[in-house]
Amino acid sequence: MYPELGLYIDGQWRPGGSGLTAPVLNPATEEVLGQVPLATIADLDDAIVGARKGFETWRAIPIADRVAILHKAADILTSRADRVGRVMTLEQGKPFREARGEALRVANALRWDADDARRAYGRIIPSADDTVLSVRHEPVGVVAAFTPWNFPAGSPMRKIAAALSAGCSIVVKASEETPGTAVELVGCFAEAGVPAGVLNLVFGEPAEVSKHLIASPATRLVAFTGSIPVGKLLAAQAGAEMKPCLMELGGHAPVIVCADADPVAAARKAAFAKFVNAGQVCTSPSRFLVHEDVYDEFVTEFVAAADRVVVGDGLEEGVTMGPLANPRRLKAMEEFVADAVSKGATLVRGGERLDRAGFFFAPTVLTDVPADAQVMRDEPFGPIAPIVPFNDLDRALTIANELPYGLAAYGFTRSSKTAEKLIRGLEAGILSINHCGGSVHEAPSGGVKQSGYGKEGGPEGLEGYLITKRVSHLLV
Ligand code: NAD
Repeated sequence: MYPELGLYIDGQWRPGGSGLTAPVLNPATEEVLGQVPLATIADLDDAIVGARKGFETWRAIPIADRVAILHKAADILTSRADRVGRVMTLEQGKPFREARGEALRVANALRWDADDARRAYGRIIPSADDTVLSVRHEPVGVVAAFTPWNFPAGSPMRKIAAALSAGCSIVVKASEETPGTAVELVGCFAEAGVPAGVLNLVFGEPAEVSKHLIASPATRLVAFTGSIPVGKLLAAQAGAEMKPCLMELGGHAPVIVCADADPVAAARKAAFAKFVNAGQVCTSPSRFLVHEDVYDEFVTEFVAAADRVVVGDGLEEGVTMGPLANPRRLKAMEEFVADAVSKGATLVRGGERLDRAGFFFAPTVLTDVPADAQVMRDEPFGPIAPIVPFNDLDRALTIANELPYGLAAYGFTRSSKTAEKLIRGLEAGILSINHCGGSVHEAPSGGVKQSGYGKEGGPEGLEGYLITKRVSHLLV
């Protein structure tokens, strides 16, 4: 069931040059699934040389033919959604239904980007003299991309789809903890006929790989999804070479439930969004600010929803929340809970690791969490819901905005006037009112403040992979 893992460099699958590998674990059982090869510097150089050549090949192919190849890759992926979903569940832990859904969703994202690339229009500007003044969009060139383990298909595909649609080539370092899904994705592109060198997949020691790829003169764009500290590191390395970056970093999404909201509906929607992917989502709702008039009702329904979560191996029927993806998250959850409780929070549900093999942590609800608790300030990235009451909306907005993050935010109210106040007031790049909207590819996602810059999805997503060239052509 689990694929053979390799590096994909210049159109060839191969092991790492040094023979070094790292084990890949099933987080539901802690068993070893396979060995991921680690690239050497020479492997990375081969990938860069391949990508440079691949870029020249790919950009020269007419757009209609490129789009046809990308649609074929999307169709192959769609036909393999079961297989890809199973691999994803094995290595990341999420329930199979979600994993399969992710595979199907990213196939659609690829179709959307490929079609959008047909509309990378330039323009002709009326000029004052004998020149033809035009603006053109061209692919930026070789992209170096680094993706995490929480969306093993979603994160790499957002970058691959945009890069290849725009006419770029790409070297992707996918997560060493979820390499199988990336191998499956790349297999779809290879079979669809993407020429050698256009798409390269590597794994390795993350800091070494990123440093080398970013510094390479061939690399023209750096795209990263992951934590804020690593994002800052990579952005600094790119900045030293004046290379543009797309940074999709962490958040700490506030949910403001106003006095006039339906507390039961809000609690159900918020709890669903909280526990999906065991809370390991950059847009996961993670600070619940609930007006005191509806606080008790909200908490009661939220706890009931937490109790309905079925935790288990994602391959088992009926499971709605899998294990955490790695032991680092387990340790972090234990620390968040201990810190909050020691500062006076009430632990209403969960709060501990499940007594079984695997990195399972119980859906956790904390109420009346003090503002100085670590979980109110640092991104939990796990299944913990801290809920606090408020009695003044302006104060709730201040609390929501006072962290350095600005990725997602959520608001619940029956008043359009209050909704508009939330929309204008919340500092976030992704906002949902009266629901907790998931990722959509037709619209841009991305953060403000330290949550990063650049967008993924929508026409803005493609723009990041294009350069704008102003051409004034004197007719002779
Ligand atoms: P981490 O900060 O060590 O790593 C985050 C990701 O970046 C991983 O995929 C890792 O392989 C990669 N990475 C780390 N150092 C790198 C480097 N020098 N060059 C290139 N890639 C590098 O933390 P982690 O334990 O894997 O995850 C914990 C935190 O990361 C979470 O608390 C969350 O804040 C954040 N995270 C965010 C996202 C997201 O979607 N924005 C995804 C995964 C993790």
